Amino acid sequence: MTIGLIDVDGGHNFPNLALMKLSAWHKARGDVAEWWWGFGEYDRVYMSKVFDETYSSDILEPLNAREIVKGGTGYGLDNRLPDEVEHTYPDYSLYPELTKETAYGFLTRGCPRACDFCIVAGKEGRRSVKVADLSEWWSGQRYIELLDPNLLACPDHMNLLRQLKDSGAQVNFNQGLDARLLTQENIEAINAIRVKDIHFAWDRMEESEAVLAGLRLYRERASRKVHGDWGTVYVLTNHGTTMAENLYRVKTLIDLGYFPYIMIFDKPNAPREIKDLQRWCNRFVYKSEPDFRRYDPRRRGG
Ligand code: SF4
Repeated sequence: MTIGLIDVDGGHNFPNLALMKLSAWHKARGDVAEWWWGFGEYDRVYMSKVFDETYSSDILEPLNAREIVKGGTGYGLDNRLPDEVEHTYPDYSLYPELTKETAYGFLTRGCPRACDFCIVAGKEGRRSVKVADLSEWWSGQRYIELLDPNLLACPDHMNLLRQLKDSGAQVNFNQGLDARLLTQENIEAINAIRVKDIHFAWDRMEESEAVLAGLRLYRERASRKVHGDWGTVYVLTNHGTTMAENLYRVKTLIDLGYFPYIMIFDKPNAPREIKDLQRWCNRFVYKSEPDFRRYDPRRRGG
């Protein structure tokens, strides 16, 4: 078979894991798999879209394909790769620049929290379950991008943290570790890993006490900072918190030595003040102008 691949979100600077696995799976069967192009003839074309319409527009279906298969969260939550494809070592050659020294993948899927703004529990289930050993998608690359939604909620997380340590690779906990589930024991295990970047989240005021307890414990027990702070903390805004609560979280995190990273729910319709807060925070403007109320990006030219 001749297989065409379309990364509908192309340009987001992030490799499409599903296409990499489909490519590898087909090639292992003797098929030709390549990026779709207009002058080819294809038995099947896979169109994969991760982001929703807010961040990535759909494209027209190609005409030069006998069959078209669409998948990814951008097309709905009820599609997934067949098991044998899901567990295929990805074809990293599709994205030579992005994956030259970096492996991407999941060790766990699912999350018990089921936050109302997040698709993970609906798509992957309300439990965090181990889905792979590291060797399934890592084979000696220097860097690992770990995409797990809630690794610490998985009963096997200590074993998986050990696998990350044993790799010797630099690990980016890309999606955020659940600060409420930090313990002395798992912080020790994280300390043993070569951490490239680490992310937590403080999304709602109701979870403040538990999140802060975890962040304080991490600050006490973590063996080192990353890029000058204890980690990045995603701060969800425009979803059930006031501006005063947004500023409280930001200030508290800065005082604790974390980097607050503003996430905006429904960004296209968010108030200008929240977009300003995002710029002030995520671009480190607070280091030169600590008072957000005095920050005027229009007057200062951004
Ligand atoms: S804890 Fe994180 S991964 Fe889990 S449902 Fe909430 S936002 Fe999603």
